[in-house]
Amino acid sequence: MTRRHGGGRHEDPQGDARLPLGVAPATNGEYVPDAPTRRDHDIENAALAMADDAARYTGMDRRRFLQTAGGVAAVLATLDLAACSSSGSRTAPPPSPSTSTTAPRSPGGSFTVPRPHEVEACEHALGGNEFVVDVHTHHVMPDGPWTKNAPETVNLVLGMVPDCGASNRLECASRAAYLHDLFLASDTTVAMLSDVPNSGPADAPVPFLDQLGTQQLAARLTHGGAPRVLVHNVIAPNFGPLPQRLDEMESAAQTGKVAAFKVYTAWGPNGVGYALDDPAIGLPVVQKAHDLGVKVFIAHKGLPLVRFDAAHNRPDDIVAVSRLFRDMQFVVFHGAWDKNHVEGAYDPGARIGIDTFLRALDDHGVPPNDNVWVDVGTVWREVLRDPNTAAHTLGKLLKRVGTKRVLWGTDAVWYGSPQAQLQAFRSFTISDEFQTLFGYPALTPARKERVLGLNAAALFGLDPKATRCALASDPFPDARMTAAQLRDDGVLPAATRANGPTTRREMLQWLASPATNWTPF
Ligand SMILES: [Zn+2]
Repeated sequence: MTRRHGGGRHEDPQGDARLPLGVAPATNGEYVPDAPTRRDHDIENAALAMADDAARYTGMDRRRFLQTAGGVAAVLATLDLAACSSSGSRTAPPPSPSTSTTAPRSPGGSFTVPRPHEVEACEHALGGNEFVVDVHTHHVMPDGPWTKNAPETVNLVLGMVPDCGASNRLECASRAAYLHDLFLASDTTVAMLSDVPNSGPADAPVPFLDQLGTQQLAARLTHGGAPRVLVHNVIAPNFGPLPQRLDEMESAAQTGKVAAFKVYTAWGPNGVGYALDDPAIGLPVVQKAHDLGVKVFIAHKGLPLVRFDAAHNRPDDIVAVSRLFRDMQFVVFHGAWDKNHVEGAYDPGARIGIDTFLRALDDHGVPPNDNVWVDVGTVWREVLRDPNTAAHTLGKLLKRVGTKRVLWGTDAVWYGSPQAQLQAFRSFTISDEFQTLFGYPALTPARKERVLGLNAAALFGLDPKATRCALASDPFPDARMTAAQLRDDGVLPAATRANGPTTRREMLQWLASPATNWTPF
């Protein structure tokens, strides 16, 4: 695991064999991933073989080829092929009552890509100029007080950057890595910065004031043209006296920068969480957010974290609360998805996974496109490895939560740049057969644009047109080309890898004009 530090082309022994899109389970630091299966290994080998052929055809070395859209196409084409040959599932989902007699014959979804050696065609097909809002992103402050006060959180984060070659491995998830991976190595227009469970500035990997620092830095780098970073404030009202927590919400809101409050209801002292519809803790907190005028409220649901209180990880409470606060918007991060459950057609009796969320919507009478939203952070990254599961997952979320209520999220920078996830989404469609059998909406270009950013724009009051105009004078587009060239030359590490903090920082330093006068620490 000791890989290079600084990004020299010959110092990364695995670098030329690393796929741009993981085909094995990964962690977002919040859970322990499963070991890769035989199928994962087979797919990885097949994708590498396809990349080898294409690289040879184009005259590039493999490392370089894998950094192109052709490399992403090779992975997606392999996933597509694997879905056909294995009837589409890692493990078969339980038959749902409505479908047991009409089993689908082919994979429910597919990735449409040009042949990988047609690199330019791949760049074109997997490219786009959508307004992309990633509502679920992370970084850490590598030298913050949390590194001493929250050893468990440190371990979680270190688990996410196992390949980092820096002397302080947290540097691989630093602010510089964040700005590089989101804005110089992906098509992301606006990112919302989140954090992991914490009870305040002493144990938060990105305390609220540092989140504001990231936001200001991005604004300075882009010469203040348009907002690039939104922040939300993670609160843990079940730690210490509630009135104090409510006061903290108030002072955060007074900055005028809080786009949302976010909670981890399954995380708490001694492993005990709370419910949002609990009159002792949850309701006063939602009421406070409401009264402060912060009308977007986010809860992490599903994706069990280490030491999570399973009873309070269910989505029922946030859906229930959505009925009480009709002028607020509630976002269910991860949509109750759980890696221990393979998503299939909606099963109202399911006790785990996305169906528990959809069931809560039914139970509380929440129609599609109402005030409950969902984000696909980590979910898309994990389900895309099986087009059948991916089709069920996106299909039922679009159908039930609503085509205007599904939000793009990637959990970047835990997995490096989100670009390959984005390219995969652009190339994915739900089959006609699944649309007919399960009533899933077609994943049209217009719907993809909604998911990728227009839905979030509506939620957070962003004006895509005005933002685009401001971005026209933004120095980031030029810097993106320079960064791409540096990656191509092996000076910067591949965007899909969580390493290379020093070079990323240097890159940003170069980008900063003398007037911006910042240090990226
Ligand atoms: Zn996250």
